[in-house]
Amino acid sequence: MKQMIALLTAMILLLTLPACGAQPARTARDREVFAMDTVMELRVYDSSDAVLDEMDAALAALSRELNAEDDNGGLYALNRAGGGENAALADLVRRAAALSARTGGALDVSLHLASLAWGFPSKRYSIPTEADLTELANHCGMRLVSCAGDRITLQNGAELDLGAIAKGYAADCCRAILERAGVSGILSLGGNIQTVGKKPDGTDWTVAIQDPDDPGSYLLTMTVTGTKSVVTSGDYQRFFERDGARYCHILDPETLSPARNGLRMVTIVADEGFLADGLSTALFVMGLERGIEFWRAGNDFEAIWLTEDGTVTVTEGLEDRISYKNAEVVRR
Ligand code: AMP
Ligand code: MG
Repeated sequence: MKQMIALLTAMILLLTLPACGAQPARTARDREVFAMDTVMELRVYDSSDAVLDEMDAALAALSRELNAEDDNGGLYALNRAGGGENAALADLVRRAAALSARTGGALDVSLHLASLAWGFPSKRYSIPTEADLTELANHCGMRLVSCAGDRITLQNGAELDLGAIAKGYAADCCRAILERAGVSGILSLGGNIQTVGKKPDGTDWTVAIQDPDDPGSYLLTMTVTGTKSVVTSGDYQRFFERDGARYCHILDPETLSPARNGLRMVTIVADEGFLADGLSTALFVMGLERGIEFWRAGNDFEAIWLTEDGTVTVTEGLEDRISYKNAEVVRR
């Protein structure tokens, strides 16, 4: 009997030890990093800075590797050489090509030369002539991009620009780091929001969507449960104005000119960052009507559109999640 009591006492001690403070508490830890040309805010609920350090390093590497303007990175080298072997980039380009096909070409990661012609990367803006655009059309388009195994081939001097999916892919990489460590958090990668896991207090995450007319305030907020990616593309994120007209950084692959179709912004909510980011760009190109049709044809994302007349349109899955009162709701 004595032995039994001793054993029970030992077991109770063992069971209670972790709760007595052996495990440091998980508190909110924040870090701001500059990567991919933007300020990123990382918040994790953890007992150390380890996952913040790991994400910081991953974001710096991706920022270099995926940026067509960084002469130390893989994408830059690929564009200069008209292709090459790079397993990670080949995988990414293959996925981008599949999403391009699914979006009827609205997503097109082969438009780097067109972006350069408009001056978006350098911020030295100019408006190409019709003749310039006709000539550019020979060097832009997914028909010029092919992947075989780890090898990417770029024909006719075409160059890749992964700006439309890079932050979403980076969010997926950060999410994997957090999930491996069993840590929850919320990341803002310059307009791409990634939630991972549950907030420690068990409540939903709240994500705010910027007001295009007043980037210091919010158009609406949205509740998000668990792990999701919320990505916004808009005409206010990078643009220039000439003679009262606005030229934004998202190009219509059919005209190689800034998309202009009555939309101010599109927000996509999806399980995966790559998908949400790629679709936010593609649906911005499509405009409202085509975007709604596209949403009806799929089942892996929800969307919010803001048009120039100030109307907010939302897909039914987000109807009860957004704070905006007068949204038009589209149903399947
Ligand atoms: P995002 O801010 O995610 O909508 O991506 C916009 C960025 O993607 C631009 O700054 C360009 O680098 C690139 N881009 C512009 N137009 C397109 C397009 N139609 N498809 C894919 N990438 C594009
Ligand atoms: Mg995008």
